[in-house]
Amino acid sequence: MISYEITAFNEPLVRAERLAPTPTGTEVLVRVLAAGVCHTDVHTRSGSYDLGGGNALRMNERGIALPLTLGHEIAGEAVQGGEQVAASVLGKRYLVYPWIGCGGCEVCLAGQENMCAQPRSLGIFRAGGYSDHVLVPDSRYLIPIPDLAPEAAAPLACSGLTTYSALKKINPQTLARTPVVLIGAGGLGLMCIKLVKALGGRGALVLDINQDRLSAAAEAGALAVFDTSQPGVADAIRTAAGGAILSVIDFVGSVQTVELGMSLLSKGGKIQIVGLAGGEMRLPLPMLPLRALSIEGCYVGSLQELRELVELARAVRLTPVPTICRHLHEAEASLNDLEAGKITGRIVLKP
Ligand SMILES: [Zn+2]
Ligand SMILES: [Zn+2]
Repeated sequence: MISYEITAFNEPLVRAERLAPTPTGTEVLVRVLAAGVCHTDVHTRSGSYDLGGGNALRMNERGIALPLTLGHEIAGEAVQGGEQVAASVLGKRYLVYPWIGCGGCEVCLAGQENMCAQPRSLGIFRAGGYSDHVLVPDSRYLIPIPDLAPEAAAPLACSGLTTYSALKKINPQTLARTPVVLIGAGGLGLMCIKLVKALGGRGALVLDINQDRLSAAAEAGALAVFDTSQPGVADAIRTAAGGAILSVIDFVGSVQTVELGMSLLSKGGKIQIVGLAGGEMRLPLPMLPLRALSIEGCYVGSLQELRELVELARAVRLTPVPTICRHLHEAEASLNDLEAGKITGRIVLKP
């Protein structure tokens, strides 16, 4: 088994060759067919999140142990199962739900494993998909994708699920009647534009600072796109909205983008912060009650939501975001390209 793993934070990934694990009990060994490269992987390799004010949240404080094989957007074929795995599971193609919890706490039992305090997420706390094989703890985390291409399905597990879950946290009437403002037209932003439409939303106003990404957003079906490096952009966005702005989703999550997003909100509006660019912000507290604003943090989504999303992707024939397929051995270069802002759409690694 060949894997690309972090052996030291803030250092290049290392190629590792070892025997593939033998599944026991409920475990399933999946042969990886496609693994998406996510910005979270760039953060994990760096070893910390920027908390602002010179402070950082270190990955080892989050319980991330090395060596770690990255990759949480995984599609593949089940090739071997433990003694409790039904034979009918094997030989088929699946999207893997990676946001696995302890399985035993109240939160997990309520179906919110992505919110578990003892996470076992693949590619973050356990070996992930930057490999030719990955061990999945239970077949219930495998969602059949008989009619989806692995490279199109893989990004659904993070960029798709995160945006789907965020959109579901917006009142459906609000989504149908008012445009949602999306900050950042990377892999998540582009996916979100498509999902806004698939969920019957009015549409997306998309903000970025990169012309290629803005063009991709326009192509993906944005109502309008805005270069936030230009002066007077906030007024232009309000004009294009043609009414109240009640929903902003920030896929960047920097001080500048959150401040811009908050300034755009009408009374009663909500900003959802998804991105982890980092920093800290000052907030005039009376403005929250006076303007009835909400700030919500979003972290991926539940297993049930991923099942719904795969169903939706099939039903509406969701076209994938622009996908760049690369060989697994380009994992390190792919993280570097993503970090440098050179990528439009999603890189998918294939062994
Ligand atoms: Zn991700
Ligand atoms: Zn749990």
